[in-house]
Amino acid sequence: MHRYDDQTAELASAVIAYAQERLRLDPAPLDAPLSPAELAARAGETVTPDGLGGAEALRLFDEVLARACISTDHPRYLSFIPAAPTRAAVLFDLVVGASSIYGGSWLEGAGAVYAENQALRWLADLAGLPRSAGGVFVPGGTVGNLSALVAARHTARARRSARAAEAADSTSVPPARWSFVCGEEAHSSLAEAARVMDVDVVVAPSGTSGRFTGAALAAAFDGLTGDQRAGVFAVVATAGSTQFGLVDDLRGLAEAAGERGLWLHVDGAYGLAAIAAPSARARFDGLELADSLIVDPHKWLFAPFDACALIYRDPVLARAAHTQQAGYLDVLGSGDWNPSDFAVGLSRRARGLPFWFSLAVHGTRAYAEAVESALRTTAACVDQIRARPCLELVGAPELSVVVFRRLGWTPAQYHAWSDRLLRDGLAFVTPTVHDGETLARFAIVSPRTTPKDTELILDTMLADPGPVT
Ligand SMILES: *Cc1c(COP(=O)(O)O)cnc(C)c1O
Repeated sequence: MHRYDDQTAELASAVIAYAQERLRLDPAPLDAPLSPAELAARAGETVTPDGLGGAEALRLFDEVLARACISTDHPRYLSFIPAAPTRAAVLFDLVVGASSIYGGSWLEGAGAVYAENQALRWLADLAGLPRSAGGVFVPGGTVGNLSALVAARHTARARRSARAAEAADSTSVPPARWSFVCGEEAHSSLAEAARVMDVDVVVAPSGTSGRFTGAALAAAFDGLTGDQRAGVFAVVATAGSTQFGLVDDLRGLAEAAGERGLWLHVDGAYGLAAIAAPSARARFDGLELADSLIVDPHKWLFAPFDACALIYRDPVLARAAHTQQAGYLDVLGSGDWNPSDFAVGLSRRARGLPFWFSLAVHGTRAYAEAVESALRTTAACVDQIRARPCLELVGAPELSVVVFRRLGWTPAQYHAWSDRLLRDGLAFVTPTVHDGETLARFAIVSPRTTPKDTELILDTMLADPGPVT
């Protein structure tokens, strides 16, 4: 099992040939899920006392399992947030897997951590953060948001204790509840972070713009009781909301947060990729004032799952919150850059390496151009919608998410249309719900998604889908 023998050599050729074939497909078939019963009938029991052997296990994956997984990098996969990894990034993911690198500490993974930090540096520079900024690649935006908020609360708690000690104020009690403030369009992962941390969420109304502003933060914060205000430890801005791709008023929020001594975290899991695009950079004015930010390279920065870049203005504060202490960890020098010091988690895959490799191979200019490409396709799609009288835009897209209605359709008709697109292998476009209304939504990240693709999908909406069964 652990020796490289003839059988392993055969398996290596087969696995590499499979990977190569998958990379060559342009596009790979969209595919679709199967029910547990269908999969049981086709794949049967795969874990057996004697093993299936490499050829059979790979055949099962190729012919049954892989075909029951939607290809998230298909150019007409426009649901949720699609994936669009570069070939170089995917190839290097194979290398990372083969290399048994422990990415949690400098002692064990120095070379990998150095390279990951260069990729983080590129993002921190684009964001306008100081040279001392830094962080870690975590599995996704959910863990990134949670880790940043844990660091923010830790910092607030430490400052409070320090103030109490300074004042020799033994009566100083912690606030009854900790909380953070965010806008209405904040991602669901923030409610999850609040549940995990057992803190409250103060949701500031977005008004008609759909954006969380400095004025809304001031009104929400100043309207709290004194004890509630004492428990607010952070403000979360969204830079590219998942539903509409809207960017909050970062400068206004940074100023209002700064005046109130609050940590500003920017959730840019999807949208912050657009800081790489010169045409969109101005939308992120004020980002340079953030205390922490996240962006997922597995969304719009062309890396495979799973990678979220989590960056802190002052990594020392994050280290104080996240470093694990134990006798068996003592050897990890506290002066070293240990990625596990900056987030929830200890052992880690060097998951930033595929992103780094692709950046190193192609250069940052190619990234700027690839992000611009999705913005151009989005603009073309907007024109296509405006040219079709039965379609109506819901708001003007700010980044690369387009939300629109098909006049006259019921929710069931949207769902029947979406199901049919997937069944036909044409596209994967799920409806969304906003203010109780079912709508169509495209999220565009891939440079392989062209105006021809969006037009093809829009044309399937012209005819009535007929009675829904
Ligand atoms: C996708 C997304 C997240 C969650 O990121 P995961 O990588 O899926 O955990 C958080 N915030 C926003 C704005 C997102 O779009």
